[in-house]
Amino acid sequence: MNELLSTPIEFLKGVGPQKAQLLQKELGIFTFGDLLNTYPFRYLDRSIYHKCNQISYTDNYLQLVGTISNVKEIGSGRIKRLSARFTDDTGSVELIWFQGASWIKQSIVVGLSYQIFGKPKLISGVWTIPHPELTPIKDLTVRAGFQPFYSSTEKLNSKGLHSRGIEKLIQTIFAQHQIILPECLPENIKKDNQLISRTEAMRKIHLPQNELEIKQARLRLKFEELFYLQLEMLIRKGVRIKQIQGFRFEQAGTPMLDFYNNHLPFELTGAQKRVLKEIRKDFLTGNHMNRLLQGDVGSGKTLVALVAMLITIGNKHQAALMAPTEILASQHFETIKELLKQMPIKVGLLTGSTKKAARTLLFEELLSGEIQLLIGTHALLEDPVQFKSLGLVVIDEQHRFGVAQRAKMWRKNKIPPHILVMTATPIPRTLAMTFYGDLDVSVIDELPPGRKPIQTIHRFESHRVALFGFMRKEIALGRQIYLVYPLIKESEKLDFNNLMDGYEAISRSFPMPEYQLSIVHGKMKAEDKEYEMQRFIKGETHIMVATTVIEVGVNVPNASVMIIESAERFGLAQLHQLRGRVGRGAEKSYCVLMTGAELSKEAKKRMETMVRTTDGFEIAEVDLQLRGPGDLLGTQQSGVLDLKIADLSKDGQIVVMARNAARMLTEDDPELVKPEHQALRERVLVLLKSRPNWSTIG
Ligand code: ADP
Ligand code: MG
Repeated sequence: MNELLSTPIEFLKGVGPQKAQLLQKELGIFTFGDLLNTYPFRYLDRSIYHKCNQISYTDNYLQLVGTISNVKEIGSGRIKRLSARFTDDTGSVELIWFQGASWIKQSIVVGLSYQIFGKPKLISGVWTIPHPELTPIKDLTVRAGFQPFYSSTEKLNSKGLHSRGIEKLIQTIFAQHQIILPECLPENIKKDNQLISRTEAMRKIHLPQNELEIKQARLRLKFEELFYLQLEMLIRKGVRIKQIQGFRFEQAGTPMLDFYNNHLPFELTGAQKRVLKEIRKDFLTGNHMNRLLQGDVGSGKTLVALVAMLITIGNKHQAALMAPTEILASQHFETIKELLKQMPIKVGLLTGSTKKAARTLLFEELLSGEIQLLIGTHALLEDPVQFKSLGLVVIDEQHRFGVAQRAKMWRKNKIPPHILVMTATPIPRTLAMTFYGDLDVSVIDELPPGRKPIQTIHRFESHRVALFGFMRKEIALGRQIYLVYPLIKESEKLDFNNLMDGYEAISRSFPMPEYQLSIVHGKMKAEDKEYEMQRFIKGETHIMVATTVIEVGVNVPNASVMIIESAERFGLAQLHQLRGRVGRGAEKSYCVLMTGAELSKEAKKRMETMVRTTDGFEIAEVDLQLRGPGDLLGTQQSGVLDLKIADLSKDGQIVVMARNAARMLTEDDPELVKPEHQALRERVLVLLKSRPNWSTIG
């Protein structure tokens, strides 16, 4: 069988060298096996016929039975077209051909009964089927079951390898060869999950007789794909834990106990306590920790990170906290210094703007171990930053860092430091399971008590006057306001002008000295930004006009109104992040989404979702449905999820099934050494080799 599957596609009847080359180039099909692994993306039930008067906008391909009349050529020369009328007992549609007019005209017999097949389009108010497939009823061989549709390309189309052409090739393979595929799932896993065999699935995915067969085939093939992904992940994790020795932190240690008992500003939430237990357990195993901490904005991740860092320090190692922006790093530094002010712990801050002299001193103190806790930006990654013994690295807003950057922190020590990556952009569970399957995941799913919910409102330009009135009222009550403009690379100049125009308009409506305004955007010098930011933090200004630079982490509890201009241009994750800037104090908070009147379907859905819920995980689910997994994780990382048939935004249930099966298998046989797991082992080894080692990217 292997031989058949690896036979070059050129040798399939109906292919030949020229088409083979195209199939390789366009679809990556080199062999019989590759062709079989090209699955249909859709099916049409060929037993169902439409009537002319039933055609609607939702119709895709359909088939009709009737007669043809009024065949006429329109235009001449190269723009010659052929049109005809097709009629059944309920009405008629137009048929149109843009190519091969003369030839088709000759072959049509007026008055004869035809089956036509195609995709209707409304052209100038008339339902029209361009390039229909015509089969005289008398020639119709009964076509059982469902017709599969394969993706093709323009080049393949022009050589007759449109969906129908590919379907014919697949039919040829099945007609000329006996396709029996070796089973690659253990019998018990197949049984537990009610999966059909691989051989059966291959036939049913291409030549299904009914809906049930399509379902069975899809389940089996999706499961298989996801199962191997999970298995790969768990094996990687096993290898990492086995190969990499980690620090063992035996004790909670004095700093942590002192802080916990004497300086904790408030009772930890249940979720914070649970996550700390999980981290503490990791520290005790002596294995290397690689943990993702997901928690909505404002859920209190910083405090969890701080306690973990204090345990590290209590065990005579240093800890580092890396944040994506300077503002955020300084804010962490201030918060943490304040929390630890009565404790004998030396905290350092390193950012791009740390002056040379301070830097030199800092480096010395890091090497000697005098600085126990270092907070900073990307500057932490630089080579001269060397520690005496770095025991834990916390990475805040991890999605802001590239893979290589995170990996760099691993190498700051001979024994790699424990890694805790934190994100306030929750990833749906099934996606986390797949993408971060080799990490341990902790979730803070509870907000600290006493938070007032944020009310989210969607408004249009016509409400501007009312909006300004509302802003004045809130300012009169002593609150502060964020006003955020989009600024994205593709339209940077225009966006920047909008921001400036907006700032001017606001300055006119909120004149000095009664009102004080701050402005912060990416084009400002770091120290100017810092100055403006500080004025707002200290409560000296009422309104902060800004771009998304304030999206991440900034904490000004007195700011209770977030206004987002052109909100339709932001993604859900970003909107949620921005909204998370308010609702941090004791006052009721508001988020106002300002949009244009005309919204796309997707934009509407985003606004509705924001208005409906403040639950980050729910928002992440909607985001996954709207954008798909690739976009959600960032293009840089989506290659890993190059799936052939499974769809992570729809197949969550199968992900869970596959995850469970893979976990049970690896618990039973962690290194796949049992004879019945030979086939699995071989395939996993190939997978492990074919992908970069992203288990160490933290
Ligand atoms: P995030 O998870 O978004 O990083 P932070 O760590 O910045 O959230 O915490 C948000 C706010 O909640 C901070 O002002 C912090 O002091 C406060 N906070 C954290 N934990 C608790 C708690 N258990 N009880 C009350 N307030 C808390
Ligand atoms: Mg935070």
